[in-house]
Amino acid sequence: MRRLSLEEAGVFHGHLGPYLTLGYLAGELAVSQLDPQSEFDLTVRVELPLRRPETCFLDGVQCSSRCTLGKLSIEVAESPSGKGIFATFMNVKSGERLEVAVREEVLAKLRSMEGSLSEAVDWVLSQPVDSLFRVRRSRGPSLG
Ligand SMILES: [Zn+2]
Repeated sequence: MRRLSLEEAGVFHGHLGPYLTLGYLAGELAVSQLDPQSEFDLTVRVELPLRRPETCFLDGVQCSSRCTLGKLSIEVAESPSGKGIFATFMNVKSGERLEVAVREEVLAKLRSMEGSLSEAVDWVLSQPVDSLFRVRRSRGPSLG
């Protein structure tokens, strides 16, 4: 099945902003690394500040990873520090896990930007994925 593009994620969400884009890219990374074979193979737990615009990240994750509210495959919690954005994806078939944390420098940069939404999106898209996220791959506890 075809995946939603970032532009289509913007249509779903209502606007195309930098946090939506970060979530989209995080979900895309999880799909490429964990290789789910069906829309039920991947789950995600996201910890983030429960306020906009940070929560826009959640819709990006849903659109690219297919971990959705309706399938109960996305779980959301307030980040312990009240500021970071962390997503832990799990392929429930393989037990492989991918932890993706948005780098603090990226969040600081977005908070400091005063331009338009599209400038912020362009900035996010111009960064290599490595400089947007800290990524750690591991096995899930169920399979040791
Ligand atoms: Zn938004």
